[in-house]
Amino acid sequence: MTTPGDTALGRFKNLLGSGRGNTRAPTRLSSHEVDQALLLMRDYEESGIGWFWASDKDGRISYISDVVAQKIGTARSELLGLPIQSLFVLERDDDDGSERTLPLIFSARKTFTGLQVRAATDTASVWWSIAGRPQFGPDGTFNGYRGNGVDVTAVRQSQRDASRLAQYDSLTGLANRHRMGKRLGATLTAYKAAKRSCAVMMLDLDRFKQVNDTLGHPAGDELLKQVAQRLQRVIAEKNCEIGRLGGDEFQIMLPDVDDRGRLGEIAKSVITMLSQPYQIDGSRCVIGASVGIAIAPYDGVSSEELVRSADLALYASKGGGRGQFRFYSSDLHSEAERRRQIEEDLRDALANDQMRVVFQPIVDARTNTVVSLETLARWAHPELGEVSPGVFIPIAEEANLIGALGDWVLKQACIDGARLPGNVKVAVNVSAAQFANPGFSSLVAQALAHSELPPERLELELTESIFLGDRAATDDMFTQLKMLGVRLALDDFGTGYSSLSYLQHAPFDKIKIDKAFIQGVTEEGNRNAAIIASIVSLAEALNMDTTAEGIEAHDELEEMRRLGVGQIQGFIYASAVPIDDVCDAMLSGDWVIEPDGPSKYRPERRTVLRKVGLIHEDHRYDVTMRNLSRSGCMLEGLVDVPIGTQFVVDFGEGQLAVAVVRRSAGAMQGLEFEHHLVDDGAGGLCTRHRVSPYVLAQAGMPLAALPPGQYPMQLMQQPGGAITLPKFGQVEAKHKMPKFA
Ligand code: C2E
Ligand code: MG
Ligand code: MG
Repeated sequence: MTTPGDTALGRFKNLLGSGRGNTRAPTRLSSHEVDQALLLMRDYEESGIGWFWASDKDGRISYISDVVAQKIGTARSELLGLPIQSLFVLERDDDDGSERTLPLIFSARKTFTGLQVRAATDTASVWWSIAGRPQFGPDGTFNGYRGNGVDVTAVRQSQRDASRLAQYDSLTGLANRHRMGKRLGATLTAYKAAKRSCAVMMLDLDRFKQVNDTLGHPAGDELLKQVAQRLQRVIAEKNCEIGRLGGDEFQIMLPDVDDRGRLGEIAKSVITMLSQPYQIDGSRCVIGASVGIAIAPYDGVSSEELVRSADLALYASKGGGRGQFRFYSSDLHSEAERRRQIEEDLRDALANDQMRVVFQPIVDARTNTVVSLETLARWAHPELGEVSPGVFIPIAEEANLIGALGDWVLKQACIDGARLPGNVKVAVNVSAAQFANPGFSSLVAQALAHSELPPERLELELTESIFLGDRAATDDMFTQLKMLGVRLALDDFGTGYSSLSYLQHAPFDKIKIDKAFIQGVTEEGNRNAAIIASIVSLAEALNMDTTAEGIEAHDELEEMRRLGVGQIQGFIYASAVPIDDVCDAMLSGDWVIEPDGPSKYRPERRTVLRKVGLIHEDHRYDVTMRNLSRSGCMLEGLVDVPIGTQFVVDFGEGQLAVAVVRRSAGAMQGLEFEHHLVDDGAGGLCTRHRVSPYVLAQAGMPLAALPPGQYPMQLMQQPGGAITLPKFGQVEAKHKMPKFA
């Protein structure tokens, strides 16, 4: 049996209410007019432009259009009687702070219009804009709602697209600068209240410009897309957001991460992942990445401050030779200043005779005879003292000074090399930028001609970074250099991408295995020995020599000999010396050196001389740190400290490490840390965690990034606690502090 409400016309009649309800005096319609109105409404609904709905006084559906039933995917008859709000989902935009909910809106008994809702269905995304008007009886009783709706899916979609465009980078699909700024700002504000931490990584691609310039902009775009995909794959932290700020600059927000051990691992895997080769339009290219990391609230409380800190850390990591990560620390301000000064002074260093070269012997592993000498640049800065090439070479590369510097070193090396007797070779380091200069081979030819050094006695040390960029130009330069008759060595093998395919394609005469690859080779479970063995056999097959770099201990030397490495360079034989010393040593012909060094390689115990704070009970003592490893340190300055004493070592900037005295003799103590230190990215170590500025704020300090220097002692003391006397006597450290520790 069908009720009148079940025929289409009957349903509309119900909806029109035949003049029932509403507070305004209903307009009387003739039955002809009613039928006309019904037909119009039906046409309207069927046209798909819009639809009608009605609910009763309890908020239950009393009329709903078929259009809606179809979109929801339920028969109309089953919808009747359900709460009206069950048809819709109210989705709020991120920045709409309103607290409105659908039940609240439908129970308010007020007119509403333009309410944007989504159909309550999982299958399709349909958006409606709905309006409703409450209906009241003559006595003012609420009878329900009547209203209409229109489909706004298309509008909504285009709005979404527009807002996507405004928030996302169209090339990579990552968040853009605008969105990153907004999200970081909002997160930091919310996290400040909740005392949570948030890390930011700034990332910059190394040598992206080179790819863009040599392979063209479309290739550069493709490369950026692939970088974005790799970043999305490698970073899987909860709630993180990855953005491209522009050019080759990326930013990663990592909420609730403040463990520097974990952050260092993430940064390392990002750098490794991005440094794998890319295939672009059939060409292969390789780039690198540098990362700077800052963590709120430790390194900045506001988003501006935090980003500035991360930027400074990025600047430092690029200056440190690229392909590295760096954590922010307040020293970076002075370091940045120092780098600027070095860059400035480097321009005049050559002219002012501050540069010189020294030579490190490379020795035949079997006979201990010096076969070659590596030229290493040295710079005596008038104020800073000796500046390491590890510092000034990357700066020279960045500041376009490497050409002039490299040319000078090359000329000097050839002149000095020509003074040496016999067949001893001189090796010269060549930067990728020098190698990329089309005029480089003529410079080499000139240096040889001027010094009269036979070309086969000159060895050019190239790193894998020469393979970045244009393959044809690289091959061309190889051909020209081989025509000159000089020897070519692949330097620092094992630090970069280390593709064995380079060895097959390029005409190298020698592979130098980097010290980073050799360190730990004698430790149990280390797999480098097997890899070195395969490098050696490949080199033999290709008729190349092998040199192991950085050999310091006898066990390492024995291992290299066992693996068949032909030549050794390292402190076990000699460090770099001036040319006059070399000439003296070679007066009687061959220079044979007996290896001399520790019997065993010791895992990096870094020698440092640095003041640190040592906290015990209410007292802080200033002591000198003599060496430092992940697990402990050696301190000098307190006397008669019993074994087992617990201290807190204050490394400054909120880095506190709980430690126990394990060895004690006179004024020297060996301490073991409760938690191991982690890599700071710059070859040093740092604590995983720091004192939280939130904790300092609770103790009455203003909430701010950690100040440089030591932990404020008054925060350690119990209020009203008895003042104790210092337990330990203090002495001056016997060792002088060097200028650059
Ligand atoms: P490199 O070419 O790998 O040079 C070897 C470095 O390892 C030298 O550091 C050398 O002193 C050091 N070394 C040698 N044996 C040992 C050892 O047993 N233990 C340890 N811990 N280190 C050892 P140096 O002189 O500080 O040079 C660092 C880097 O700076 C060089 O690495 C090279 O890449 C670059 N460099 C130096 N001079 C020049 C130059 O004239 N031109 C260019 N482009 N780069 C240069
Ligand atoms: Mg070298
Ligand atoms: Mg090297």
